[in-house]
Amino acid sequence: MRQGIVEDAVQDTVQDTSLFWFRNDLRLTDNPALSAAFAAGRPVLCVYVLDEESDGTRPLGGASRWWLHGSLTALQAALSAQGQRLLLRRGPAKEILLDLAQAANARAIFWTHRYTAGGRAIDDTIRREFEQRGLSVQSYNGNLLHEPCGLQTASGGPYRVFTPFWRAVRDRGMPRPVIPAPSLSESVALGLASDQLDDWRLVPRKPDWAAGLRACWEPGEAAAQKRLTGFLRDHLSGYAARRDRPDLDVTSRLSPHLAFGEISPVQIWHGVQAHLAACDDRAADDADKFLSELGWREFSHHLLFHFPSLPTGNFDPRFDIFPWRDGDDTLRKWQRGLTGYPIVDAGMRQLWQTGWMHNRVRMIAASFLIKHLLIDWRAGERWFWDTLVDADPANNAASWQWVAGSGADAAPYFRIFNPILQGQKFDPQGHYVRQFVPELADLPDKHVHTPWAAPEHILRDSGISPGRTYPAPIIDHKEARKRALAAFEVIKHR
Ligand code: FAD
Repeated sequence: MRQGIVEDAVQDTVQDTSLFWFRNDLRLTDNPALSAAFAAGRPVLCVYVLDEESDGTRPLGGASRWWLHGSLTALQAALSAQGQRLLLRRGPAKEILLDLAQAANARAIFWTHRYTAGGRAIDDTIRREFEQRGLSVQSYNGNLLHEPCGLQTASGGPYRVFTPFWRAVRDRGMPRPVIPAPSLSESVALGLASDQLDDWRLVPRKPDWAAGLRACWEPGEAAAQKRLTGFLRDHLSGYAARRDRPDLDVTSRLSPHLAFGEISPVQIWHGVQAHLAACDDRAADDADKFLSELGWREFSHHLLFHFPSLPTGNFDPRFDIFPWRDGDDTLRKWQRGLTGYPIVDAGMRQLWQTGWMHNRVRMIAASFLIKHLLIDWRAGERWFWDTLVDADPANNAASWQWVAGSGADAAPYFRIFNPILQGQKFDPQGHYVRQFVPELADLPDKHVHTPWAAPEHILRDSGISPGRTYPAPIIDHKEARKRALAAFEVIKHR
């Protein structure tokens, strides 16, 4: 759907301009590349390219497409409030940007770094093409506390273990200060044709499955700031003790805002410090715990940068011969939240309805797929990629490999979550299960994680008919555990 950009251009654009290429940095504040573009003194043309065609791009999943629509809408509004315009183009980024550079008489292009192998390859090609034409290319770290290439172990290699990695990050002290939003002078995009966002059909229509997403989320930079403020005010204190409880819903839910770059980790870091200084320095341990979760995000990006095949290949090659089962039917049951294990089903339904799942439940549901059902972690990674609003190439792949045991600094394969005990421990009254598995809502607390074991009269009184209103477990936990350990024997001694 490329436009005839050159023909559409305003022919009297004679002044030199700069291009700013928005990617996963959909914000105005603390965006080093954007600030540099406006500081360069030339009028700036802001563009977002939906590139689903270039080699190396991974198409966005459905939930991410929904989020992108909202995020771009918010960004367009924020830009136009200051007289700027966001140009939207769809197609291969290289051709579109080269055309635009010519049409707008650009002398430079600015962007924020990304870390997937495919994205970096595209960026390298575009950099070469632009530089060959005499244009300056300036790219910046905007989405991480530290560039992955700037952190090395004592022996000069990448980190593979989280604790020393995070110690090295902390040893560097405070990150740079937050950069204020630039004043957005002079739009040069006014004469250039732009796609209409609605024409990209990012939002589902028939069927419209996004009602649950709309009810839960507000994409955009302003909403991200609101969420951070609310989290610091209401939930930072107590975070360390309560973050594993899906029934309490006390984590920040900043993950989709981070995934789309509507907020930066630097802003979060300084927001936390300012909060501690101003109101609650007793929450210092909670703050450390919260920041260390951002640390896992940094670590995942570090891994993705240094081990580019992380989303598709086992970090630990012993897993290349792991005897995964072909389980189309069981995979479907897991995806739909029909495994018969309430905590797993609640998580999978929360994901489907809201585009997000609590971290503890992600671990339980992922472990169930990999270890109880013996399905390759990549099938789970793909499902999460399609259904999460925070789908992130680094966090998703690193976390799936962590659960599988095939990743860096991973949970050992033989540590197999018991979905019953996990449910009872982290959702003790079953509030979370009742919210997402309403057919179990009337079961007494004692039975909510083991409906199959409830006495008949309790099932009857609760309106449950096992196997009909709610499935029996698709596999017995003890059997599954034995089977998983036997499968692990195949690779254990390699
Ligand atoms: P908070 O507890 O408030 O944490 C703050 C931020 O720290 C998060 O927004 C996130 O950016 C980061 N963070 C927290 N936990 C982790 C973690 N374990 N690993 C990396 N970063 C973390 N996170 C994603 O952002 N995208 C994904 O695609 C993704 N896929 C996952 C798949 C599996 C199988 C598992 C087990 C975890 C996955 N995570 C992913 C990590 C984690 O579950 C989410 O980041 C977290 O639940 C987001 O909720 P929050 O923002 O309320 O987190």
